[in-house]
Amino acid sequence: MKINSPLEAYKYLPQTNCGECGQPTCMAFASTLIDRSGKTTDCPPLIKEKKFAKKLAELDRLLAPEIRQVTIGVGERAANIGGDDVLYRHKLTFFNKTKMFFDVADNMDEAAIVERVKKISDYKKFYIGRNLLLDGVAIRAASNDPAKFATAVKKVIENTELPVILCSFNPAVLKAGLEVAKGKNPLLYAANKDNWKEVGELALEYNVPVVVSAFNDLDGLKTLAKTFAEAGIKDIVLDPGTYPTGKGLKDTFTNFLKIRRAGIMGDTEIAYPIMAMPLTAWMAGIADPVSASYWETVLSSIFTIRYGDIMLLHSMEPYATMPEVHLAETIYTDPRSPVAVDSKMYKVGNPTADSPVLFTTNFALTYYTVESDLASNGIDCWLLAVNTDGIGVEAAAAGGQLTADKVKDAFEKSGFDLKSDVTHNSVVIPGLAARLQGDIEDKLNVKVMVGPMDSGRLPGWMEKNWPPKK
Ligand code: SF4
Repeated sequence: MKINSPLEAYKYLPQTNCGECGQPTCMAFASTLIDRSGKTTDCPPLIKEKKFAKKLAELDRLLAPEIRQVTIGVGERAANIGGDDVLYRHKLTFFNKTKMFFDVADNMDEAAIVERVKKISDYKKFYIGRNLLLDGVAIRAASNDPAKFATAVKKVIENTELPVILCSFNPAVLKAGLEVAKGKNPLLYAANKDNWKEVGELALEYNVPVVVSAFNDLDGLKTLAKTFAEAGIKDIVLDPGTYPTGKGLKDTFTNFLKIRRAGIMGDTEIAYPIMAMPLTAWMAGIADPVSASYWETVLSSIFTIRYGDIMLLHSMEPYATMPEVHLAETIYTDPRSPVAVDSKMYKVGNPTADSPVLFTTNFALTYYTVESDLASNGIDCWLLAVNTDGIGVEAAAAGGQLTADKVKDAFEKSGFDLKSDVTHNSVVIPGLAARLQGDIEDKLNVKVMVGPMDSGRLPGWMEKNWPPKK
């Protein structure tokens, strides 16, 4: 039985409230263990004092996620995959966003490999206050030649800090890659029913994570995973095969559900992260590359939503990657805590004392939408993000998180004085919060102008209404 409340975790802690973990009490530290923002190793007494050794071991066992977490690569860009505890996001949250690895082949010329690796490494898409990135490089041994593969692996790791997957069913090729990638903790792809003995030995010898692969054969997959676990290999990833279309795709989808359900329900022999391969879209006989990219994105979306922990992809066209990274970001956002920006006064452009003052809520999606509508139209202004616990304007105004008192409080905390920092003593409020107009006028003693319902209409609204009439 896992534990899932701070009270249960507290029982295993030293209970001295010494504060060495950075938390004021052991109970506060127990909360961080449950939400996974803290680790047992953050409590020095628990780690150092022998008398707690048994409790520590037991606590680690009880806190371990149902699905094993596997790490690929080293350093800041190392990729953690798996680590989930639930089948449905709303029951807790999904941990470790689906990791997207893009392929290079060892039969590409060196300049092309370097160019593609740089493109993968440099990919960056700004989305509600953060940069969405790609996660790694999968190096395919298209040549099946150990020397050629080793050269390609060398080129890749010289040009990126991203983790890599070494892809071949030939153990000699994998060994050549492993020699070059020593210390980089690459993922080995893959052991199957024909090569499992040699690939298993490589995983043990080089101490690296490994994929076990059995296409549309769950019994075979489980047997391989069990054999590897019994041999002492802990970091295993499952590849049940990804069929790109038709009945094969339906089988693949069902296989992903069965594996994850069994893992979450306690079948430890198959409780490992799952690999999906949307790049099989390119083997589906789709002649037109745009359509193949599109279908790859469809496959990626299916397996982002249903239990793909790591993916191999090919198309780097923006119309393929953008929906892929956005969807993964959304599915893996913690539903218990909406993404929020700091509640404070922001400058948009270069505002002066004559510039308009607006507010919105601190829900990141709302804030960045409003900010982008203003900035992209060259409207210099002051924009206050009111703390509504990360809730959007309409829901917050209806639910009591956005009130005149909250707005007043936000202005006071930001240090922005409507009487002295601007000349017009007025504030533009969102159209969706129009009901607050009178209250805000009373509480802040300012002129309140009700803006449009949609921030996309702010430029037109400003043309008609700004500056305010005396
Ligand atoms: Fe409690 Fe350990 Fe934190 Fe000290 S370091 S307060 S014993 S959890």
